Amino acid sequence: MNILEVLESYKGSNQVAMISGDKEITYFQLWSQSDKLAAYIKNNNKEDKTPIIVYGHKDPLMLVAFLACAKSGRAYVPIDINVPRKRIERIVDSVDPTLILTTEEFLPYKGYQHINITEDISAFEQEAEITSKDWIKEDEVYYIIFTSGSTGDPKGVQITYSALNHFTEWALTLGKMEKRRKCFINQAPFSFDLSVMDLYMSLASESCLFALEKDIQGDYKKLFEQLKRSDADIWVSTPSFADLCLADPSFSQELLPNMGLFLFCGETLTNKTVGSLLERFPKAQIYNTYGPTESTVAVTEICVDYQINETYNPLPVGKAKPGTIIKIMDGEEELPEGEKGEIVIIGNTVSKGYFKNEDENRRAFFQYNYDGNSCVAYRTGDKGYFKDGWLFYCGRIDLQIKLHGYRMEIEDVEKNLMKVQGVEKAVVVPIFEVGGGQNQVFKSLLYL
Ligand code: AMP
Repeated sequence: MNILEVLESYKGSNQVAMISGDKEITYFQLWSQSDKLAAYIKNNNKEDKTPIIVYGHKDPLMLVAFLACAKSGRAYVPIDINVPRKRIERIVDSVDPTLILTTEEFLPYKGYQHINITEDISAFEQEAEITSKDWIKEDEVYYIIFTSGSTGDPKGVQITYSALNHFTEWALTLGKMEKRRKCFINQAPFSFDLSVMDLYMSLASESCLFALEKDIQGDYKKLFEQLKRSDADIWVSTPSFADLCLADPSFSQELLPNMGLFLFCGETLTNKTVGSLLERFPKAQIYNTYGPTESTVAVTEICVDYQINETYNPLPVGKAKPGTIIKIMDGEEELPEGEKGEIVIIGNTVSKGYFKNEDENRRAFFQYNYDGNSCVAYRTGDKGYFKDGWLFYCGRIDLQIKLHGYRMEIEDVEKNLMKVQGVEKAVVVPIFEVGGGQNQVFKSLLYL
């Protein structure tokens, strides 16, 4: 798979590539507008290949900006408008960008240049043209997504074009959707790596990405109106978002008659959620996938049907995708099936490392020798074990948690609390959800 080549083959298509509120963009517009913006970037930034920050929410022009960066041979760093300002500033400081593209109002910061691309995309028409020679190369960084860090500084995970291509090619094999694929639900913001799953699966299959904006997600009436309007057949979200929808009895096959595939990642998928979905969406398949941002969204999969749901509690996260090997390790020692240890991911979608963060890179990434080939391996910090050939996730070996789908490091929250005037010491304790049991579903944090 070569995503840009695939998209080029849709460049004359009037199919809608993305719908967000009252805005939409076709594949033809996406291709031609991203060409113009790419030419502008190339002319203005010349040899400068510093990653470009793309700031906004779910405007279809965000996709134009992402593709323009890739076509001009630069990495993009997506930042959603709901990211707290202090965190945005830390990311900007870390990237030190020469260009920030925005689709929403961006408050100036330290004199960094920003351009609002919603104002007039045709203003980017340039004489020079973009050709495939300018495009990002397989081993170059395609995007950088910032995740939490225990020191209080966000860590920029660099994902190469090759990793994204391998991931997308595999993700499109999930479910029996080849002929019926039509519209993907996008829940996650673009600064969260789960969105890479719906965005690139949708683009690579000439489907429509139907975005649920943040304000809609918090309002049941609007949310259900939008879901009905979407008539989506593929759902990508964290399990907690599906739980939120399931709280309303009208979330069913009647609302989404063509829904055929639920893809989950990022959090524990519970038997209860699967049970409700199987009942309410009898035509749909449900997949649990697992992986951290550091290995391009997800690296395992399992189709959770009635039988799997009856047999296992907690549910497995599946088997490794082709091109990935998963080991359970205790330090340098590999553990046999059944023993619990750290999940280590080796293979063709593992990140090149964190952006400008050698200390963290040394801690988390290493070279693994497999069949005489040296591959990149990532120590996830997740605890897991194999049983019946399936991988099971059973929490963390460190103090990282997932809260409402977001990765948080407890030390990070403590360090930030201690920056508040008058706070000398801080302890943060996660509270388990009643009934979450081994699944480690966190409800909230308690600050002492
Ligand atoms: P993120 O980098 O934000 O995608 O978060 C990755 C982390 O989410 C992993 O290291 C796991 O701790 C957790 N995670 C991802 N997928 C699953 C899953 N299917 N079940 C349980 N936890 C998961």
